[in-house]
Amino acid sequence: MEKKILLSESEMPRHWYNIIAHMPNQPAPPMDPSTGQPAAPEKLARIFAPQLLEQEMGQGGAYIEIPEEVFDTYRIWRPAPLIRATELEKLLDTPAKIYYKYEGVSPAGSHKPNTAIPQVYYNKLNGIKRIATETGAGQWGTSIAFATQRFGLESIIYMVKVSYEQKPYRKAMMEMWGGKVIPSPSTTTACGRAMLAEDPDSNGSLGGAISEALEDTLSREDTRYCLGSVLNHVALHQTIVGEESIKQMEKAGDYPDIVIGCAGGGSNLAGIAFPYIRENMLSARKTEIIAVEPTACPTLTKGTYTYDFGDVAQLTPQLKMYTLGSKFMPAGIHAGGLRYHGMSPLVSQLYHEGYMKAEAYNQLECFEAAAMFVRTEGILPAPESSHAIKAAIVQALKAKEEGTSKTILFNLSGHGHFDIASYEKYFQGELIAYEHPEAEIAKSLGR
Ligand SMILES: *Cc1c(COP(=O)(O)O)cnc(C)c1O
Repeated sequence: MEKKILLSESEMPRHWYNIIAHMPNQPAPPMDPSTGQPAAPEKLARIFAPQLLEQEMGQGGAYIEIPEEVFDTYRIWRPAPLIRATELEKLLDTPAKIYYKYEGVSPAGSHKPNTAIPQVYYNKLNGIKRIATETGAGQWGTSIAFATQRFGLESIIYMVKVSYEQKPYRKAMMEMWGGKVIPSPSTTTACGRAMLAEDPDSNGSLGGAISEALEDTLSREDTRYCLGSVLNHVALHQTIVGEESIKQMEKAGDYPDIVIGCAGGGSNLAGIAFPYIRENMLSARKTEIIAVEPTACPTLTKGTYTYDFGDVAQLTPQLKMYTLGSKFMPAGIHAGGLRYHGMSPLVSQLYHEGYMKAEAYNQLECFEAAAMFVRTEGILPAPESSHAIKAAIVQALKAKEEGTSKTILFNLSGHGHFDIASYEKYFQGELIAYEHPEAEIAKSLGR
């Protein structure tokens, strides 16, 4: 058995998969709270490129061709390898086969350039000169800086303050690619100043940084906004991951019984899972899909399915999604990319309708899984990705207990080279098994 399964360029998927075309129930539209009606396309056009809005609304059929310039950029690191975790299997002494799709090979070190590249490309086609965005742990900002550099645009990145202070190398990397990085909350925007007035020592939050990037966008005609997760067009671009993995699994002569992804806003999970959900819907396959989140930010497992804002200042349209409330302040856990109060509306609906399950683990169990992984497979995972590893290990041990041979596939969404400080804390025993108190969640949801 080949350990690393690579496709040749001619075998790479040439399309993204638009799951909306196959969903039996069409997604609920984004709502404009000022009118109580679905958000007007003209308003959204001030924020997003028209091609991205079409994709957002699920137009264009089930398969969307990847533009040539985007494909050319993907080729720097794609196809991303599919690897059989034989050493981890041996350690667990499991009859299960464990495969992982490794997205850490991109220039930014995660799956996020899969969508940063097409988002910036479509904006460039429309003559846009500048992209405003936010970043939590720094992965998305790095991806946007890389993409804007590649296509000759400027970028301004509002970075959640706690990460800005904890991750100076992420910031340096964004600046290397020409990005302008501002800690959020900042004094640059009115909503940033309001957040500082409320709490001068605020750590910032992803929702808050989104508010700042949106206000910046609306203040300049040459600027558009890009979001790294949650939205339908982001999920669409990420499906390259799952489509590629189907071809690679085929080459390995295998097919997964279980597909796992960690879930912050839901994009890397959507990316690996949607093509398999299609196979479940259309080809009577029965692959089990598992979303994994931190107990510190348990959106699917403890949240409510309702219309909510995507940001603290409530500037975004309302999306129908699982949410912990737009003012939810997650603890400063180390998987920064999983600290978002909401969830992709597509992932939310598919979860609600029973197409996938969800599990939550605390950061200690996840770092423990990451330590097992780096010592067997050699790759240091991002703390976000370690949630998927934990769930894969749980499934592999369950297979062992039941004496069944299961094929497990998980998305290793990124590497952890910028997270060494967190790993150091873990190995020194300084991390705690944080679980967000039920009462706090209920308060945030206004229950
Ligand atoms: C951003 C990020 C995530 C979480 O975002 P999703 O949209 O849920 O995928 C997970 N893993 C890594 C490495 C990330 O950078």
